[in-house]
Amino acid sequence: MSTKAMKYVHESLAATGFVVMHHEIAATVRPDIWGDGMECRKDIHAQTTRNALGGLKPLRYRAILRGIQGAVPLLARSPKQLAERIELITGFQVDEVFPESELEGIPEPMSNERLAAIARRKVSLQNPFDHIKTANGPRSCSTCSHIAAGHRCMNDKVSGIDYPPANVDRRCLGYAPLWNSHDKRNGHALWPELINATPILNTGEQS
Ligand code: SF4
Repeated sequence: MSTKAMKYVHESLAATGFVVMHHEIAATVRPDIWGDGMECRKDIHAQTTRNALGGLKPLRYRAILRGIQGAVPLLARSPKQLAERIELITGFQVDEVFPESELEGIPEPMSNERLAAIARRKVSLQNPFDHIKTANGPRSCSTCSHIAAGHRCMNDKVSGIDYPPANVDRRCLGYAPLWNSHDKRNGHALWPELINATPILNTGEQS
């Protein structure tokens, strides 16, 4: 681990009991460590891809943070009021925090309802059209008029996802822009390449 990344991890854990492994968060809360955003990005990315944090004791979690794509990894000594603490320290709104083990599918006794919720979350974080190139880039569900309270997708018959994370970018044929959006194109207009494409999803379930 680089000296700067190590300083960030250990000092964050000592001061707050958690550390969010994302360069935007790191650069926001510790501008004294990284003056250069590119260096921060490189340092933090290296820690998450090389699993350099494997030896640390705190528990691993993932967070869905407003304005940041994907499920961000973090370490925390305690799950108590973790979302509130992250918001307080980083200033980023937390949509969801959950144990990383849920994504890894570590076997443990769980109800069928819980297993179904985890499978849905795994699917919702995937992009089923990763294999298809499109002229237009993705949009987040938070810019779609079908997203409702509790992240419920009201157009799940078309989107195929009932509870998508609001701020994960996706290309979705069910997409419909918000009423006040200057760009009125829907999913079919934005991503016509997907209309006859076959989505590929890995639910992790055995057939
Ligand atoms: S229709 Fe698609 S883009 Fe809109 S909320 Fe549902 S999953 Fe998200």
